[in-house]
Amino acid sequence: MMPIGENLLGQFRGVYLARAKDEEILKRKVASGGAVTALLCYALDKGLVDGVVTSKRVKGFEGKAVVARNREELLEAAGNSWSIVPFAARIKAKIEEEDLRAVAIVCLPCQAQFFGQMRDFPILETDFGNRIKYIISLFCMGTFAFEAFLNYLRVRYGVRAEDIKDIRLGREFLEVHHDDTVLAIPLKEAYSYLQTGCLVCTDYAGLWSDISAGFVESEPGWTVLITRNVRGEELVKGAEKEDYIELRDGVHVLGDVLKRAREKVARAQRNMAQLF
Ligand code: SF4
Repeated sequence: MMPIGENLLGQFRGVYLARAKDEEILKRKVASGGAVTALLCYALDKGLVDGVVTSKRVKGFEGKAVVARNREELLEAAGNSWSIVPFAARIKAKIEEEDLRAVAIVCLPCQAQFFGQMRDFPILETDFGNRIKYIISLFCMGTFAFEAFLNYLRVRYGVRAEDIKDIRLGREFLEVHHDDTVLAIPLKEAYSYLQTGCLVCTDYAGLWSDISAGFVESEPGWTVLITRNVRGEELVKGAEKEDYIELRDGVHVLGDVLKRAREKVARAQRNMAQLF
């Protein structure tokens, strides 16, 4: 768990609003701008990495860790999986199996912490940590204990796992897109089905990453990118220069990101107070 500090967003160098320039990426990622996918395409095309480890939704909420080595495989995997993929357990084997020398990892803040610590403070796993070139963390309010959540969706709302096409987080509601309908569930209700660890987690933006990415409701169609170090900054600026993304200054949305971060900390504090 990250310490609860004064600066809930951690250290950063730049805050941007970004959007993919590739029409196909944009089409698939209408709501969020597609900038993460575009950044990763850039990294693969230019040989900065030889693989991207990310998660892919297979059905309903279920996701699995996959390695993408080119644009097509990345597009296949694009989209939030909304479930914790047991990355850490499998990623080492994947990287070695596929003989990847430099990877980008797209993950959640808790996973970014694990990978970031392993890369920056290697102890036993240097063979793995030194192959991690970029850590991109997605903003996260939590992932569901998905068996329980799917059961609740089925019993309470009659929505079957296999019919779910997308899950989106709004300000007040969780939108479950299934068949041709959108079911809006009040967040308060949905949040009682989060994984237990998420209820006491305080890291919203992924403080251990090179780049944090997510979206805010006030800027639909754009990805918020927070670069935290030189390597993150260079990746973003390089992708802009090579026409993979367009960039705007994003400092004005920091307040929105901070609001979510504060909500998450407040939730963790409430839950911790009940636990101890
Ligand atoms: S809320 Fe925290 S523990 Fe849960 S998935 Fe997100 S980052 Fe990980």
